[in-house]
Amino acid sequence: MNKNKASKMREPLNIENSIAGVIDEIIEIRRYFHQNPELGQNEFNTMNTICSFLDKYGIEYEKNVADTGVVALIIGNTTDKVIGVRADIDALPIKEESNVDFKSHNENVMHACGHDIHTAILLGLGKLLKLMEKDLKGSVKLFFQPAEETTGGAERMIKEGCLKNPDVDAVLGLHVSSDIEAGKIGIKYGKMYAASDMITINVSGVQTHGAYPHDGIDPIVISSNIVMALQTLVSRNMSPWNSAVFTIGSMHAGTSGNIIPEAAKMTGISRTLDVKTRKLFQRRLVEICESIARAYGGKAEVNIVESYAPLINDDSMVDLVREAAVDSIGENNIIVMKEPYLGTEDFSYFAAAKKSCFFSLGIRNEEKGYIHPIHSNKFAADEDSISIGMKIFLNSILKFFG
Ligand SMILES: [Zn+2]
Ligand SMILES: [Zn+2]
Repeated sequence: MNKNKASKMREPLNIENSIAGVIDEIIEIRRYFHQNPELGQNEFNTMNTICSFLDKYGIEYEKNVADTGVVALIIGNTTDKVIGVRADIDALPIKEESNVDFKSHNENVMHACGHDIHTAILLGLGKLLKLMEKDLKGSVKLFFQPAEETTGGAERMIKEGCLKNPDVDAVLGLHVSSDIEAGKIGIKYGKMYAASDMITINVSGVQTHGAYPHDGIDPIVISSNIVMALQTLVSRNMSPWNSAVFTIGSMHAGTSGNIIPEAAKMTGISRTLDVKTRKLFQRRLVEICESIARAYGGKAEVNIVESYAPLINDDSMVDLVREAAVDSIGENNIIVMKEPYLGTEDFSYFAAAKKSCFFSLGIRNEEKGYIHPIHSNKFAADEDSISIGMKIFLNSILKFFG
């Protein structure tokens, strides 16, 4: 933390002191969530706990949004500008093997993606904002979002109207990162996370004896050709300055070496970073599979299930968060990330609906042994990151209100 920078801040309230006054409680809350993790769509205790703290802080809210989500509202002095901040609240089906002394009490469920930290930061932010509501030149909505790891809660919350009444102008969010040291953050302009599609390809041929292939149509040969041709999605259909991944991860056919089977089945994924490339892949995938199968006398059926949308940050919002982060932690602690993640994140639906910035909050600390990546059963985070997350959100909101 850069104390020199912090002392130069011009906000009417002393943010540093305000955070210091609440941080112990927020860390307690984080540990409670860590000990009581719940899977996506089952976050009932989590939702009720969030509501009990909102009650305590005197913040109005609506619960059961997208079943187990909460939308809270802090109305400022003027309501000209409204900004939303989102935290995901669900955990993962993992048996915890970390060394923390507040391990999960729910067997085989663990906050291994840091959503307990996201939730605590948002509650801490809410508490601070409520204390300064009379000075706020705008209103703030807090989105406690369920099911990020499963079916996705963001899109459902938006469909249920969380961005309306009052209408939200912009949205902020963060995710912990074990690649980044505690005390630092990562920001990314433009494309940040990928869109994900799940693909199934069913190839049908004609079954026959392995010694008489001319009497049948071989779905294994057809599938092999399809797999090779699909490599050209990346190498020949998209710009070399863009990036994407296409993987066939399973391929099943046949029962015996001397029988040509009737059918083959493949499954795979594609990860693309914008909607245009995603649509291009979907179209070419069908064309390639169907045409190759037809050329060999067989048939291919392609089934594409769209998962999350690509997360694309708004550059002006990234600039705003960057300035707020310079005030909060100093320029040297901000990493401008060059490459996007090919993982997914359903904050993307907020980012598609409103100008948004999602950033990475460093939680790595080698000395304390916090080195394990998210989704690891040994995942643990440096809790010093919690006050940094609160501070950057708060400074960003104040900057947004001007
Ligand atoms: Zn995760
Ligand atoms: Zn996560």
